[in-house]
Amino acid sequence: MAIRRRKPKGPKKVPYRLIEPESGAGRALYPLMNRLITEFHDDLREARIALAWHAGWKADVDGRRKLGMLKKCSDLDREFRPFDFVIVLNRLWFEDAENTDAQRAAILDHELCHAARKYDTNDEPMEDERGRPVWRTVRHDVEEFSAVIERHGTYKRDLEMAAAAIARNKEQGNLFDLEPKAEAAAPANGNGNGHGKAEIRLVSEAEFTKALKKECRDKGWTCTRRADGQVEIRVPAVS
Ligand SMILES: [Zn+2]
Repeated sequence: MAIRRRKPKGPKKVPYRLIEPESGAGRALYPLMNRLITEFHDDLREARIALAWHAGWKADVDGRRKLGMLKKCSDLDREFRPFDFVIVLNRLWFEDAENTDAQRAAILDHELCHAARKYDTNDEPMEDERGRPVWRTVRHDVEEFSAVIERHGTYKRDLEMAAAAIARNKEQGNLFDLEPKAEAAAPANGNGNGHGKAEIRLVSEAEFTKALKKECRDKGWTCTRRADGQVEIRVPAVS
């Protein structure tokens, strides 16, 4: 009579690992994240965001792999670690030499888009009773099946906005420069570089009022604070 012996299991696997800022990956990813925040996520300047690896999510039945996710730290989490959010990245994917830095930057930017400051009804940024910013998570602003778009086109507003964003990207190229020129010379006449000029509005810090900020948020316009302190508002071609 054969007795089947169970193969001893190894120690329990732990899929998550904090990416230390001083590690090899950390020295590349934290500065990249900080640049993305400076350029595109003004709201998150005060956010304390940790990066962590997931050993590698498996593909689902449709062959789609999770590449990253954002977790908002609970009030209890924040008692133990000084973080407001954790961005978890798929280590297998990030370390795969087939993928590009531009894709890595896009994924980090995507996860940052899931994080935002919470505002009250007067459009003031909310604080908790200890004077700390209150944060929230944001859902994707567009979700659709390619097949439905192919059959029915941009049949609703969020799809129109996505289509316009794709068109602008095709026209002006990627707006995030992976290797920014050291202190890119600002054009003296403020006329910019001619890329997508017609759709970009420049306003001074003082003109960038709460009302305008709210309008931008409501309409999905992207606002970027530039190194010279002016705020660049990108207005989609569709109204
Ligand atoms: Zn997402």
